[in-house]
Amino acid sequence: ESPVPSDIAISRAQKPKKITKIAQELGLLERELEPYGHFKAKVDPKSVVERLDEQVEGSAAEKGNYVLVAGITPTPLGEGKSTTTMGLTQALGAHLGYNSIANVRQPSMGPTFGVKGGAAGGGYSQVIPMDEFNMHLTGDIHAISAAQNLLCAAVDTRMFHEATSKTIKGFYKRLVPAKKGKRTFTRSNLARLEKLGITKTNPDDLTDEEIVKFAHLNIDPESITIKRVVDCNDRFVREITIGQGKNEASKFPPRKSGMDITVASELMAILALSTSLKNLRERVGKVVVGTQKETGEAITAEDIGCAGAITALLKDAIKPNLMQTLEGTPVFVHAGPFANISIGASSVIADQLALKLTSPSNPINSGTKGFVVTEAGFDFTMGGERFFNIKCRTSGFKPNTVVLVATSRALKLHGGATDVKPGQPLPNEYVTENLDFLEKGCANLAKQISNIKQYNVPVVVAINKFETDTEAEISLIQEQALKAGADFAVPSNHWAEGGAGALELAKAVVEAVKLSDETTPQKFLYDVNDSVEDKIFAVASKMYGAAAIELSPLAKQQIETYTRQGYDKLPICIAKTQYSLSHDPALKGVPTGFTVPIREVRCSAGAGYLYALAAEIMTIPGLPTHAGFMNVEVDDDGEIEGLF
Ligand code: ADP
Repeated sequence: ESPVPSDIAISRAQKPKKITKIAQELGLLERELEPYGHFKAKVDPKSVVERLDEQVEGSAAEKGNYVLVAGITPTPLGEGKSTTTMGLTQALGAHLGYNSIANVRQPSMGPTFGVKGGAAGGGYSQVIPMDEFNMHLTGDIHAISAAQNLLCAAVDTRMFHEATSKTIKGFYKRLVPAKKGKRTFTRSNLARLEKLGITKTNPDDLTDEEIVKFAHLNIDPESITIKRVVDCNDRFVREITIGQGKNEASKFPPRKSGMDITVASELMAILALSTSLKNLRERVGKVVVGTQKETGEAITAEDIGCAGAITALLKDAIKPNLMQTLEGTPVFVHAGPFANISIGASSVIADQLALKLTSPSNPINSGTKGFVVTEAGFDFTMGGERFFNIKCRTSGFKPNTVVLVATSRALKLHGGATDVKPGQPLPNEYVTENLDFLEKGCANLAKQISNIKQYNVPVVVAINKFETDTEAEISLIQEQALKAGADFAVPSNHWAEGGAGALELAKAVVEAVKLSDETTPQKFLYDVNDSVEDKIFAVASKMYGAAAIELSPLAKQQIETYTRQGYDKLPICIAKTQYSLSHDPALKGVPTGFTVPIREVRCSAGAGYLYALAAEIMTIPGLPTHAGFMNVEVDDDGEIEGLF
């Protein structure tokens, strides 16, 4: 029996500080804070950054140390990236006295009640209160669902009204109605006119031909790429038929559609990648909803007239949420884009805010740089690669070091040990010393280290210690990591001991950031101006170790379309398995000579990337027979049990 209690028991046993106290310790002003209850608050990023930039002249470029926590190729059990993020922040903040902020994603309630459980970290390294963190938070995910569903309703209704209007001129009159006797264009209307090259601003001045161009979107129902969303692992809405009500179906054919989990929506990716509210409005306007039947023109949320309302629904969601670790250090929880078809990292805006608060221009730091510790989902070939090539390209921030989380069990798996499954006992080789499997598996660690080194950034390997790890096993991993070029490799016991268990790791990080080169710009894997095929190959060959890529006929055709529509100069996100360096989960260790098949390429024009599917990607997970929700109960005082 482990002496460490369950995650929810640990979370409940710790009395959190009032969030106003955490804010005060960060040097935030009362007017910059919007408390949601006692332990959560939204922070207005714009006023904080502006205040701190104005305070010291010429300090706009100043920022704290930026630390990325990433993972080696994991087992399906999770190897402790979130736990390490929290443990490291606690060590830096509560033990070494730095202003240290963890920036993490808001978890979706789908996985929380499904197989994976919560994402607050674990043991004595967690965000608290973990139940509030894992459910609802301040409603950002709900706001995204509302916004995405509004857009979907707007698109279907637009097609319906257009198709059921007798004449396009009549439709135009209803679309641009008179208010107080005068007809005026909305901002979206004007944007559409500009796109069409029509410079008129009075709705009555449009010629018949211009009216057709403007109002006849004629979206091909088959081309619609957006889906309604729900924040739940509900496999039964993957394929649905909509528009079957009597009033609709009698005039307009029902169509097959489906639903996604909210965090897989493009709006969630936009929330994560926007640099300001203004930038979010621009990105929302660019979301492609489908194409016009005759011309193949991309129809956007702006064309539908929905971008302003979506931005209104997201105006609070854009503010990062302040919470705390078990040891009372600050955490920003913000955005939670799916780690598969999106970047799997928290937001650019939260990083802007935290890097400013940890910079010397924040008076509470007395001239010392603090630390922002953030996390990239899945292993380094996925979350890490996108962190650099998509997120950092957008934000302009350059990490000062990468902490690569490794565990003996994941390395043993890559060295040939029997596969592990959630809910099943671990095979013997995982819980007793086995240097053979471990040494072989370290090849995976070495490849991940060399992957990180391609971005010109110092690497600290954090060996997340499990109770059954032996000293010989830890030393072997350290030795192999250093041999592979890691700058530091240290064991860390933060799960069992909190920040005190991560002191050695924290000290290594403090040293590692001194090695980072602040003067040269961030190195990327590819130039966005390269062809789509070359960009995909760059990632597959340099990160995965592939010999080639193979585009399906569909993927080729999609690339052609995006190139014609002008969407080809975007970075690439490749959706693949996280259980192998390659696209094939069965290929353990360090596979070579393989060809990565690309089945499809899709476009997230608003989020600003193309995504290529190297595997069948589920955009809404399902529930297992025994699901997380089955353990959850609430006692008579409202205390939650059974979340993990
Ligand atoms: P990831 O972020 O890589 O998915 P998490 O940090 O969420 O991983 O950890 C996955 C699970 O493993 C959590 O339930 C956590 O409590 C547990 N865990 C993490 N580190 C350890 C450890 N050193 N010993 C035991 N359990 C751990």
